[in-house]
Amino acid sequence: MSPGGHLVTTAAACAAVYAGTGSAALTLGLAAGGFLIDIDHVVDYVAFERQRDLRPSAFLRYYLEGRVRRVVLPLHSYELFACLMLLAWLSNSEWLWGYVLGMGLHLPLDIIFNGRLVPGGLVHFYSFACRARAGFLAERFADPGRLAPLGESFWVSFFRGARLKSAATSPGRVAVAAPLASSVLRAPSP
Ligand SMILES: [Zn+2]
Repeated sequence: MSPGGHLVTTAAACAAVYAGTGSAALTLGLAAGGFLIDIDHVVDYVAFERQRDLRPSAFLRYYLEGRVRRVVLPLHSYELFACLMLLAWLSNSEWLWGYVLGMGLHLPLDIIFNGRLVPGGLVHFYSFACRARAGFLAERFADPGRLAPLGESFWVSFFRGARLKSAATSPGRVAVAAPLASSVLRAPSP
């Protein structure tokens, strides 16, 4: 899902949880698990991709245009989710329960919305062991050449996210446009 999509859904979930429980710890944990979990993309970008352009626009473009080669992403893992759930249950920490709740919101949204851009989906991708077996190579999970270059402003990309190339921009390619991407195909004005 786009970072903006996660921001909106996490903010709505935080508002609902705080209104319902009044717990700041639960709400802060939810915010971390639902939105700040994406910080592992930044760690990958610097530590494994060796990128030094730290401007948010460069970072966002790198991911949304599919230039990424390594996908370690330790926070996006079913294995970590299971461990944290067990830890939350054993410790009964409100903050940790909030994080687990946020992660439980974030991962399915990533699976659904990011998976729509990849033939066969990305359910397996969110297993750390599965990524490790693939040498953390992005090319083993998706064809980066399918993603469209971004021409719009930072904030439009932030909320819109990645999309597939249309048939018009990639002649000769078989572009399987997902419903998400089809919305960007503009009909000629009458
Ligand atoms: Zn994510």
